[in-house]
Amino acid sequence: MATGPDVRRQVPRTDAVLDSPDLAAALVDLGRPLVRAAVGRAQQRVREGALDPDLGAVVASVLADLPPTASSLRPVLNATGVLLHTNLGRAPLSRAAVQAVVDAAGTTDVELDLATGRRARRGRGASAALAAAVPDAEAVHVVNNGAAALVLAATALAGGGLDRDVVMSRGEMVEVGDGFRLHELIASTGARLREVGTTNRTTAADVAGAFAAARREGRRVGLVMKVHPSNFRVEGFTAAPTTADLARVCAAEAEVAGEAVPLLVDTGSGLLAPRRDLPDEPDAASALRAGADLVTASGDKLLGGPQAGLVLGRADLVERLRRHPLARALRVDKLTLAALEATLAGPTTPVVAALEADLGQLRERARRHAQVVRSADPSADVDVVDSEAVVGGGGAPGVVLPSVALSLPAAYAEPLRTPRPAAAHPAADAVVAVVGRVEAGRCLLDLRSVAPEDDDALATAVLDAARSLTARGA
Ligand SMILES: *Cc1c(COP(=O)(O)O)cnc(C)c1O
Repeated sequence: MATGPDVRRQVPRTDAVLDSPDLAAALVDLGRPLVRAAVGRAQQRVREGALDPDLGAVVASVLADLPPTASSLRPVLNATGVLLHTNLGRAPLSRAAVQAVVDAAGTTDVELDLATGRRARRGRGASAALAAAVPDAEAVHVVNNGAAALVLAATALAGGGLDRDVVMSRGEMVEVGDGFRLHELIASTGARLREVGTTNRTTAADVAGAFAAARREGRRVGLVMKVHPSNFRVEGFTAAPTTADLARVCAAEAEVAGEAVPLLVDTGSGLLAPRRDLPDEPDAASALRAGADLVTASGDKLLGGPQAGLVLGRADLVERLRRHPLARALRVDKLTLAALEATLAGPTTPVVAALEADLGQLRERARRHAQVVRSADPSADVDVVDSEAVVGGGGAPGVVLPSVALSLPAAYAEPLRTPRPAAAHPAADAVVAVVGRVEAGRCLLDLRSVAPEDDDALATAVLDAARSLTARGA
């Protein structure tokens, strides 16, 4: 194709392309800026001589190049075998929670009592569901995430202008990911961190010693924090005080200093009650029964809900947190409240379903996927292999969940992650992206982290990846 001034003059004008009836639906669904940007890219290809200047060809190129939605976030099937993958948005919501989000997305009665027409407490439905799920909690509060719950508690009980100490074990100074360290988060509230114990051993006597040291220095301890080391394990010569040990030490301080020290247990995982298959994972009900005054947890880990921070415990303390000015900055929106309530009150979450998935059924699903690939390409290098899945995302470190994976050549990983756009599939919906794990030269698709409802989408994606590898002559 010729380039130069003549071709440049032939580039269809932006308005002419945008006026094409074929782009009318896209203008409604995606909005003008995204469509115009795609038009700009098509015009550039004409200028470079890579595209015919004919209006029809340009419109076709724009259609093929449009993003599927106005958000750049793409749905991804998590075939990594890491049930809670932080890079993939942690817990997938249940269908009930997704529906609740859709229903609440417009205007909704989040702070209005429709019966009386008066203002009502924000998030009362989610709070009631959380309270019902943990009867041991006198009161509950929901904030933006687990980190926000800790910041709010530390600020309201020890930070801000209070200038009190927060006691933390050196064995629990956790980095939760991406450089975020919980003790730095606590220090940022203005509370003074008082570290006790060692990396491997901390005792209740260490905590009592910290109280005595604070008193000698004329200071007060505002909070004792017990943080679950949720993403690592220390083995060997170790010791950590139980929640009950700490509760005794905190209560005993009332006799010496005139007031008991509140004990906060950060469980991280969001388990509300114990699970037999995760015996080392702390839960809110047990922590409260053992004497914790406050428990904090994330909503999008083992609870299987939206990103949220849960605070449960003593009514007077929860009220102090709720009434603190910072609470407003950490409050959750209606979408979170809707999803959280539906997660708590609704059916089994996908996370729990994945935890409890039957190994035989995982193997059966993997075999079916292998058959689909082989029926499309009898020479395909595909296998069904044993795999090991993990909870991930700051939960149950060291727990291995036996699993089964579809094993494909490593070359599949890239086309599975980056499927061709919808326009390349005139008959079908867009092929969904799939993220597996590459191990020993193979691309493994672990079935435990893929919901059975997504098996058709997974099969379509694998076939599409096979086709694109063949097309590339791989
Ligand atoms: C994950 C985790 C956090 C942080 O929670 P986010 O919801 O990610 O903010 C805090 N403490 C523990 C023990 C955790 O596991």
